[in-house]
Amino acid sequence: MRPEDIDWGNLDFNYRQTDYSFVSMYRDGKWDDGELTKDHNITMNECACVLQYSQSCFEGLKAYHTKDGKVVCFRPDANAKRMHDSCERLEMPPFPEDKWVEAVEKVVKANEAWVPPFGSGATLYIRPYMFGYNPVIGVKPADEYMFRILVTPVGPYFKGALKPVEVTIPDFDRAAPHGTGGIKAGLNYAMSLHPIMEAHRHGFNENMYLDPATRTKIEETGGANVIFIKDNGKTLVTPLSDSILPSITRRSLCYIAENMLGMKVEHRVVYLNEVEDNEFDEMGLCGTAAVISPVGRINNHGKITNFKSGMDEMGPTLTKLRSTLTGIQSGEIADPDNWVHEIK
Ligand SMILES: *Cc1c(COP(=O)(O)O)cnc(C)c1O
Repeated sequence: MRPEDIDWGNLDFNYRQTDYSFVSMYRDGKWDDGELTKDHNITMNECACVLQYSQSCFEGLKAYHTKDGKVVCFRPDANAKRMHDSCERLEMPPFPEDKWVEAVEKVVKANEAWVPPFGSGATLYIRPYMFGYNPVIGVKPADEYMFRILVTPVGPYFKGALKPVEVTIPDFDRAAPHGTGGIKAGLNYAMSLHPIMEAHRHGFNENMYLDPATRTKIEETGGANVIFIKDNGKTLVTPLSDSILPSITRRSLCYIAENMLGMKVEHRVVYLNEVEDNEFDEMGLCGTAAVISPVGRINNHGKITNFKSGMDEMGPTLTKLRSTLTGIQSGEIADPDNWVHEIK
C-alpha cells in the first residue's frame, strides 16, 4: 500500500510497512553511525539474547502535521532520556540522546509521504527499539545490539477515542516492587498479554493493576498511566510508585494542570479504597496513543464504581486537559516549554 491509497480518516492502529527504517549496530564497544534501510526484516542467530532472554526495550512517539504544514513530533528528548534509563536497567548500551533525536528526525523526513495530513486524527507512529543481538546461552547481557526505528501510520488508538471505557481489577500483577515497571521493557508487555485477553473475554477494555505487595494501591493499566480529578475540577491526582512507567503524556498533563489551568496537582499514593469510596469525579488513562481516554466505570470482581462523568462522554476537566494538550501539539495553543519539535 502507498500513502496516496490510505483513507486517513479511517485508519486503524495496525502496522503498515513504510519506505525506510533507521538501523544502527553496537559492536566492539561502540555504536556505528547508523543508516536508513529499506529492509524491514531482521536476520539474526537463533540464540540471539533477545530471543532467549528478552533483552529489549522500546519507545513510542508520534509525528504529525501542524496547521501551517510543518512536520513535528512531541518531546522526543524525553523519549530519548527514558530509553537511556531503560537501557541502563537492562545492561544495554544507551544510544547517545542527541543522536537518538537526530535519528528520529532522519527517519521521519525519509518517510514524509507517510505523515498523515493535518486534521485527519491519524499520526505517524514512531517506534524506536533496541535488543541484544548476538548469541548468548549462559545468562548474561549481549555484546552486540541493534537499535532500530520503524515508523508506521496509525489512526486513533481507541476507535471513537472519547468514549469512556470500563476497566477491571485483574488477579494478576504488572510489575514487582523494585522490578522493571518503571522502564519501557518488552518483557512488561509479554506478561500483560494473558491478563488483557482475560479482561477482554470478560467484556472489559483494560486492566487497572494494583501494587503487588499489598494490592491496595493503584498503579496503572498495561500501557497507560492513570489520572483522577476531584474537587469540582480543581485537583488532579496521579498515583506515585516506582513501578509506574513515567508517561510523558501524564507528565505533560500535570504541567498543564498546574501551570496553565490553575489546578492543584497531587502526585501521591492512591488507594483503591479512595476510588471505590467515590472520592474522584473523573478518571482518565493517558499515553501517547490515546492522549486521554476516559474511564466511566471500574468493575472489581462485581463491585462497581461509577464515575460522575458516566459512560457516555468524557468529563469536563479531562476534556479541558485533553484539548489543551492537543492544542499545544497542533500549534493552536502556545507551547509552554519547547515541547513541539520541528522536523521539517
Ligand atoms: C508507554 C507507556 C505509557 C505511556 O507513556 P507515554 O510516554 O505517555 O506514551 C504508560 N504506561 C506504560 C506501561 C507504558 O509502557
